[in-house]
Amino acid sequence: MSSLFQSEKLEILFDRATMQERLQELADEVCQDHATIEKPLVVIGVLKGAALIMSDLVRMLDRPVEMDFIRCASYHGGTESSGEIELLLDVSMDLRGRHVLVVEDIIDTGLTIKFVLEHLESKGAESVKLLSLLEKPTKNTSGVHGDYVGYEINDHFVVGYGLDLKEELRNLPFVGVCKDTSVVG
Ligand code: 5GP
Repeated sequence: MSSLFQSEKLEILFDRATMQERLQELADEVCQDHATIEKPLVVIGVLKGAALIMSDLVRMLDRPVEMDFIRCASYHGGTESSGEIELLLDVSMDLRGRHVLVVEDIIDTGLTIKFVLEHLESKGAESVKLLSLLEKPTKNTSGVHGDYVGYEINDHFVVGYGLDLKEELRNLPFVGVCKDTSVVG
């Protein structure tokens, strides 16, 4: 089996060290902004894409946290948004009166995260902030932007560090531009 890690069909956009350095900066900002809250910060990852970011991020947060996850479907395994969002897995914690940080992999049209934020806000959280590793500003029709954003990128289809192509490539240790989506499947 050939290794995609060296594939000429993937161009490295942000290597692992760069991603982790930026995540640490965002983690420090999150801690500063939530320095006065008494209860643990509730960190909610949007599955599956944010799973790897979440696991790195929570270890960089120098404060008490509790973790939960939510999962929606919007892309259905392709590279274009369907526009329809479906809730597949809801959070299990009681969010009333809690301070929440939602962790997302990438904001494209913003429709997925708009749905997630509205859903979580309806559960009575005291505050809901959004951290997104990446944002593609060009197609954002939702008006929703991250409070903490790793990097703004052009309208490329990116993979790695949790982001998939047809469920593969999430385990690439870098974020890369997929120049040929026939590399998997
Ligand atoms: P939105 O609802 O903002 O259009 O899409 C957000 C979701 O679509 C992300 O959470 C992610 O799962 C997926 N997505 C958007 N852009 C990309 C991309 O460039 N690469 C991958 N792998 N997924 C993307």
